[in-house]
Amino acid sequence: MKAIYLLQRRGAPRGDAKTEFLQADPHHVSDGLDCPSCGRPVGMFRWAQPLRAELETWDLQYGDLAFGPGESILVAERFKNLWLRSGLVGLSGFEPVEVVKVVRRGKRIKEAPPSYFRVLPQRSAVAVDEAACGWRWEEPPSPRCDVCRGGGIAKGWERIVLEAEPHENLFIPRGLGWVLVDEHFKRFCEEHALTNCPLIPAEQASHWF
Ligand SMILES: [Zn+2]
Repeated sequence: MKAIYLLQRRGAPRGDAKTEFLQADPHHVSDGLDCPSCGRPVGMFRWAQPLRAELETWDLQYGDLAFGPGESILVAERFKNLWLRSGLVGLSGFEPVEVVKVVRRGKRIKEAPPSYFRVLPQRSAVAVDEAACGWRWEEPPSPRCDVCRGGGIAKGWERIVLEAEPHENLFIPRGLGWVLVDEHFKRFCEEHALTNCPLIPAEQASHWF
C-alpha cells in the first residue's frame, strides 16, 4: 500500500507561504453531487462562474496552493504547468481565477500575485475504513448507506485508513470529505519545492470535532 497523506487545507501553519482565499461577492455556488443510492448530498458546495477571489497572505511569498471554503482549491500557474506535465491524476478544472483583492497579514508581500487557477479534487471510489480509523460517533448513521457512507454525526477519528489503494494521486475518499494525497504527490511537491502544501501522514491525521 502506498503512503497516504492528508492535505491540510484550512489552518495550515504560517511560515511556508500560507495563502487562503475567499470567494469575492457576489458569488454563485452549485450544490455538491447527490449520492446515486440514498440521495444525500455528497461533498461541499462548488463555486460557480465567475471565479473572482480575495486572497489572504501571511508570509513573504504566495503559495503554489491556496485554500478556501467549499471543494475548490486554487493553484498558481507554476503548479498548474508542473502538474499537467507530471502524469499525476486527481485534479480537474484549471479555470482562471480573477484575484480582485489581496489582504496581507503579518509579513507583507510587495509583488502582485501569480495567476491562479481553480481545481476540483477527484472523488475516489475508495472509501475510508471506519473501524481501522478508530472512528467514534456522536450519533451513528441509520440506516447506513454503503455507497456514500453518509449520515450520522462523527465525534472524530484516530487516524485515516483506506479500504483499498486509490489509483488517484490526489482525491476525496468516500466517507470523508477531506482531500488526501499519495506518496507520488508528496514527492512531486518536494521535487519542485511547491509551497503551501501542508501534508500530514494519514496514520497521524487524528481529528476530533
Ligand atoms: Zn448514499
